[in-house]
Amino acid sequence: MSVWPLGVFSSIDAGLGVKLEVAQELGVPTIHLHAPHRENRSPESAQEYAKRLQEMGLQVTVMFAGFEGESYADIPTVQRTVGLVPREYRAARVQEMKEISDFARAMGVDVVALHLGFIPHDTSDPLYGEVVEVTRDVCDHCRGNGQALHLETGQETADGLLQFLADVDRDNLFVNFDPANMILYGTGEPLEALRKVGHKVRSVHCKDARWAANPGKEWGEEVPLGQGDVNIEAFLQTLKELGYTGPLTIEREIPQEPERQRQEIGMALELLASLRKKLWGEQA
Ligand code: MG
Repeated sequence: MSVWPLGVFSSIDAGLGVKLEVAQELGVPTIHLHAPHRENRSPESAQEYAKRLQEMGLQVTVMFAGFEGESYADIPTVQRTVGLVPREYRAARVQEMKEISDFARAMGVDVVALHLGFIPHDTSDPLYGEVVEVTRDVCDHCRGNGQALHLETGQETADGLLQFLADVDRDNLFVNFDPANMILYGTGEPLEALRKVGHKVRSVHCKDARWAANPGKEWGEEVPLGQGDVNIEAFLQTLKELGYTGPLTIEREIPQEPERQRQEIGMALELLASLRKKLWGEQA
């Protein structure tokens, strides 16, 4: 694969990200795929999806998990509902995470990823230790499937995330770095955070956002790539300095209206392709 193959976040039946047909039309070679609902996760359907995506020229580089009952309505709701942190959902979601890992394996995908949720900042909080334990459990299951597990950034500071990775202490645990999330959640300046966790970054989301008036208390605003506060050129330059050559995967939270997606995602792809050429020249 060449340096920084372009990609988009997509889904089969979840209505999230870029429609597969639009991704194909735009000639995107790679995708991060949101896992389908449970009823569509049989070994047979895995074979069918793998074949269909191959025919569309789309390589799945990461399988993203999401769970029923998660809501990103506002920051307190995320804390209460997202990932493996909330105790009331945890056992069922750990089980489902393992099923998604198995499904990804059946599709030939060797990375699974998720939003773990809001890990407590206080490492002496019993909840912190519980989340370390379940993350080990999921990592070990993924290892059995020959997979890495990537944690989406945003809900922790860079230092908090590094501490957590060290405490889980598994060599198949890495980071999916999303610079916009650092702004949306108000958890830190994205490029400073990227430099800190860069040695653990194995996949990225190219997403942009503007800071909220009260970061960490209310959402920032997600905006088209290149129009926010991330500074996409500096983001890519930093990735290059860190030695990251993997896919650049565009994530954009807009409705699946083909015309709008074609236009907006098309512009984002052009921006990334031109910056790739600028930063890598003939090597890209
Ligand atoms: Mg993301």
